[in-house]
Amino acid sequence: MSTVETKNKETRGFQSEVKQLLHLMIHSLYSNKEIFLRELISNASDAADKLRFQALSNSELYQGDADLGVKLSFDEKNNTLTVSDNGIGMTRDDVIEHLGTIAKSGTKEFFAKLSEEQSKDSQLIGQFGVGFYSAFIVADAVTVRTRAAGVASDQAVQWHSAGEGDYTIEDITKETRGTDIVLHMREEGKEFLSEWRLRDVISKYSDHIGIPVSIWTLERDEEGKETDQGKWEQINKAQALWTRNKSDIKDEEYQEFYKHVSHDFADPLVWSHNRVEGKNDYTSLLYIPAKAPWDMMNRDHKSGLKLYVQRVFIMDDAEQFMPSYLRFVRGLIDSNDLPLNVSREILQDNKVTQSLRGACTKRVLTMLERMAKNDEEKYQSFWKEFGLVLKEGPAEDMSNKEKVAGLLRFASTEVDSSEQTISLASYVERMKEGQDKIYYLTADSYAAAKKSPHLEQFKAKGIEVVLMYDRIDEWLMNYLTEFDGKQFQSITKAGLDLSKFEGEEEKEKQKETEEEFKSVVERTQTYLGDRVKEVRTTFKLANTPAVVVTDDFEMGTNGQASRSGRSGSTRSEVHFRD
Ligand code: ADP
Repeated sequence: MSTVETKNKETRGFQSEVKQLLHLMIHSLYSNKEIFLRELISNASDAADKLRFQALSNSELYQGDADLGVKLSFDEKNNTLTVSDNGIGMTRDDVIEHLGTIAKSGTKEFFAKLSEEQSKDSQLIGQFGVGFYSAFIVADAVTVRTRAAGVASDQAVQWHSAGEGDYTIEDITKETRGTDIVLHMREEGKEFLSEWRLRDVISKYSDHIGIPVSIWTLERDEEGKETDQGKWEQINKAQALWTRNKSDIKDEEYQEFYKHVSHDFADPLVWSHNRVEGKNDYTSLLYIPAKAPWDMMNRDHKSGLKLYVQRVFIMDDAEQFMPSYLRFVRGLIDSNDLPLNVSREILQDNKVTQSLRGACTKRVLTMLERMAKNDEEKYQSFWKEFGLVLKEGPAEDMSNKEKVAGLLRFASTEVDSSEQTISLASYVERMKEGQDKIYYLTADSYAAAKKSPHLEQFKAKGIEVVLMYDRIDEWLMNYLTEFDGKQFQSITKAGLDLSKFEGEEEKEKQKETEEEFKSVVERTQTYLGDRVKEVRTTFKLANTPAVVVTDDFEMGTNGQASRSGRSGSTRSEVHFRD
């Protein structure tokens, strides 16, 4: 496929996922086209962060020789807009890897989903993150010239593509370190070849970015006409958002910053910004997204916070600061206690890390508790996106078990809906006089739970039952044994005694019935023989003639049925309805 020419020029095909992304993006994001600037400026700012970080261990790379920044200029005659940075730059291999493929696993499956649900494309693409490729929303060709930090000027690389099937790559000479991205604008992109339009978009997207973003502005003569003299003018505030005072930061600024750190298109649901001094000295800015990222359930999903030490960017995806069941949290932590040369290995078992992780976890749980209390609707939308992940909490985080349990939501017999809206606290509030257990039922689906004959006696006595039908629930219940001092009780277990909810008269009647049914029970026991442990009369059913139950120490009938057929039924009891 590749042809080698002078200057080491070759033509390479895009990975098929990139082609799909480019196609979908151009067609579904045209109404939101200015985001390409956010993405390119965000990449340029990351490149400056990475350079500063690498210079910590290799001071030759950057010695504070020039202020790190992003510069935008345009050329109306040639119809181009150029975004330049003096950050880390890219080698030839970097360019091939980053601007020709998408390295995230699960990408193929993601695109398969996209073509089925075309109407949701733009939203889903937003969750995926389009990054550099968003240049093609406004440009019909893009040229990238880049020189990696630490390499000679004649070892720079040029990449060029019209965003269709392939791109070319060749060696060039570039005097300065960093990356220039030249956009050859389509008709729809020409509006950005204007000082005012650029000013407008940059101040919207880049105020919170820690390095200056400047545009080339032409000076005007006395009559207000542009001369050919120009200068760089800094447009953004260039103060990293989290270092500013909370009271000076507008919601919109927090929202924009979120999009920068998360690559998400949608606004976050809530955030929490805290500066802590004392035993640990750090700032955290934690966001709860509105939508789950497309790959949240993938095994190699990248989670974690951006880590800064004394305002120097250290790493992305520092997962050490959040437990796995909160892996949807985005944001950053800036520590003054960790060493600048901290590595993932050092973070692993480090006292500071542990203490920050504990604090950040609490902060997120508190943020969620507040949301649940103050805005039920918002909390429901959170639950729909992230409830399944949060259910991993009680198993993973013993120390916050009760708090996490308080955040869980389930369906229950209290409302006639499969929606998971019931909190355990509200269940406890509705418990009947004398009730000391939280009754629950696990099933394969909501419909199956609703139909379960085990519910009948509870219905008859007006006792609420929590209905659990997510696959994770049975596993969850191995770890969740009590809430608010009340034990959980599966209603499929044998020996459930609800007689204290019955009157004397009812008890008398039951005794009589038992006598009446004695011979039926005996005959059934003989007939079933070894296949069951015991046959008993039951008063737990209203409409169903018989039910299979298990002993307390066994797996619920749901787990048994789905994991090993009915092989456990030799230990089951058969209960008859009176
Ligand atoms: P993301 O930023 O989400 O990783 P992008 O598609 O925007 O995805 O960029 C892919 C990669 O290309 C980046 O991770 C980075 O390694 C590299 N890259 C993009 N722009 C620049 C730049 N201006 N300077 C250095 N590297 C860059």
